[in-house]
Amino acid sequence: MYLALERYSRPASIEECLALLAEAHDEPTALLAGGTELNVRGHEELVHVIDLQALPLRDVRVEGDLLRVGALVTLARLRRDAAFALPLLEGLREAAAGFAVVALQNRSTVGGRVCTDRGDQDLPPVLAALGAKLRLLRPGRAGAVDEQVIDYPLGAAARRALRGALVAEVLLPLGEGQGAYRRFSRTAVDAPLCNAAVVRRPSGVRIAVNLQGPRAAHLKRLGDTESLIASWHAPGAAFPQGWREAVRLSLMTELEPWGDAWVSGEYRQDVTATLVVRALARVLGEEEVL
Ligand SMILES: Cc1cc2nc3c(=O)[nH]c(=O)nc-3n(C[C@H](O)[C@H](O)[C@H](O)COP(=O)(O)OP(=O)(O)OC[C@H]3O[C@@H](n4cnc5c(N)ncnc54)[C@H](O)[C@@H]3O)c2cc1C
Repeated sequence: MYLALERYSRPASIEECLALLAEAHDEPTALLAGGTELNVRGHEELVHVIDLQALPLRDVRVEGDLLRVGALVTLARLRRDAAFALPLLEGLREAAAGFAVVALQNRSTVGGRVCTDRGDQDLPPVLAALGAKLRLLRPGRAGAVDEQVIDYPLGAAARRALRGALVAEVLLPLGEGQGAYRRFSRTAVDAPLCNAAVVRRPSGVRIAVNLQGPRAAHLKRLGDTESLIASWHAPGAAFPQGWREAVRLSLMTELEPWGDAWVSGEYRQDVTATLVVRALARVLGEEEVL
């Protein structure tokens, strides 16, 4: 229940939205996108809600080698829009479909997934593996708009850049490549207990996993395993026989054994390693399960 709520605003322009945000230092305020997280938890103390739904943040367009995705684009659209039909973006489509309730996919937005401070979100590992950037807007001086483009934030310090900002767009570097996303949950209508995203481009392989801790800041790139794979990634070279065992060994030292009320740390570490190997097999065009 929004027990403390006194103000509800629905700005029609970015400038109006940022002006409302500029007033926010005095009262607990939140931006509302699809509401599938905020309407469930974290709203009890809010005095002011700024509803983003009337803002022009639903565009999806190619500009140079970037796909620019408005923050209000829904997960349903990520699954179906032809702009996302590339092999490179296969993991994005899989992550959007991860939680099988279509009503939720119709409401949930890309911006909401990025900003939700939970360690079990489906989309962030894919965005990190794709090398996504975020376009942030903030109220500047005398009604000006401050704009900042940042790398997808990894870790608590980087994530602080999101505070007090409107995430306006997610920028995805396009090109050749193949992506994959694998998740494990108790049922198809549960949040993931483990997840992993892999993107293979001609320049190399990037791997990111969530659920390495309870918060969004625990999202992790697996740099050591990426380096191991890079040593096999000469143009035209095949992965060595036995790559799955070598990757799994590297993952077992790199993944956090983080346990919670649902699963033990050892179990999560083991299943996450399996998901990474399966996603890697997918981007290599190999059988996932031998
Ligand atoms: C039954 C249920 C099951 C769920 N299962 C899953 C699951 O399996 N996987 C998963 O990843 N998530 C799951 N979620 C969580 C939720 O669906 C996601 O976090 C969702 O993507 C949030 O998007 P939203 O647009 O609804 O955001 P909202 O709920 O509107 O907002 C979420 C947070 O983001 C902030 N925010 C939103 N947009 C912006 C923006 N543009 N700029 C700055 N801040 C912004 C809000 O202020 C708020 O703090 C589930 C939720 C429910 C209710």
